[in-house]
Amino acid sequence: MILPLDKSRIERIINFYPMRINPYYLSLIKHANCPIGKQAIPDIREIDDVNIAGNPDPLCEEIQSPVTNLIHRYPDRVLFMVSAECAMYCRFCMRKRKVGYPSVVTDETRNIGIEYIKNNKHIQEVVISGGDPLLLEDQILDYILKGLRSIDHIEILRIHSRVPCTLPQRITKDLVDMLRQYHPLFINIHFNHPDEITKEASLACGALSDAGIPLGCQTVLLNGVNNEQNIIKTLMKKLLTIRVRPYYIHQLDVVRGNHHFKTTIEDGLDIMQSLYGISGLCVPQYMIDLPGGGGKVPLLPQYLKYDAVNI
Ligand SMILES: *Cc1c(COP(=O)(O)O)cnc(C)c1O
Ligand code: SF4
Repeated sequence: MILPLDKSRIERIINFYPMRINPYYLSLIKHANCPIGKQAIPDIREIDDVNIAGNPDPLCEEIQSPVTNLIHRYPDRVLFMVSAECAMYCRFCMRKRKVGYPSVVTDETRNIGIEYIKNNKHIQEVVISGGDPLLLEDQILDYILKGLRSIDHIEILRIHSRVPCTLPQRITKDLVDMLRQYHPLFINIHFNHPDEITKEASLACGALSDAGIPLGCQTVLLNGVNNEQNIIKTLMKKLLTIRVRPYYIHQLDVVRGNHHFKTTIEDGLDIMQSLYGISGLCVPQYMIDLPGGGGKVPLLPQYLKYDAVNI
């Protein structure tokens, strides 16, 4: 499809934040303002004055990085950025300051990260993230997974990826056969809207599940995209049908350049409340990441009506 875009405006925005929309994700866009289009098409509000003044790193990821591209916030697990590229650059990304600049991650930063993990016996789990780890070539990813798996104190490997959603064709037989050597391996995918659950995405997730990889979903609440009870309820139910278990619904981490996607916590709590009564398998936790690097905490709606149960 051809999007009605103003080239000079887009150029101004992508000077700050790169754009990438691959043919598959483009095929899901019905028009520039649809929930899929809004996630992918640059918006001039990314670079308006307010956003330029915003904090690029309010969660203090850089301060909590003992080595480049590795965040050690919790004692027992680290977040390891192994790629700065994604199959599609989400306009709301909380790592806008880094993604889309491939030189941010190099063989050297990856090796230093693996070395740091090797030398820290408290670390039991590595969250392999980015950017998108599944955009790396098979042999590079294999090298990273092999390196991490050879460390005695590492028990759990987890990959965070949007590829099964944004470029499901990347989940090839070769990739899956490589991944299945590194169990226990978990993959958390990032779906935000029911329209992203296509036949292709279903096949990709099925292949990963068949390889024994448990799949979770981390969804971000986004203004004008999915901050509606019925959209989230439908998404959570559809995820189960492709064997993906909802893991977290995230309050958006507001950073420089993504303020226009912000939703209210009240909206989020109402959405969580609306999930009451559906299968427990579809109900994730609603998490907010505390500014300042305090970590994620769950937010709970007030399910219990005291007067109704007379206690
Ligand atoms: C989110 C996050 C993790 C993983 O947290 P879980 O609650 O286990 O999903 C680990 N490290 C950092 C820095 C994170 O932001
Ligand atoms: S896939 Fe993840 S890291 Fe990449 S742009 Fe989207 S939100 Fe950011």
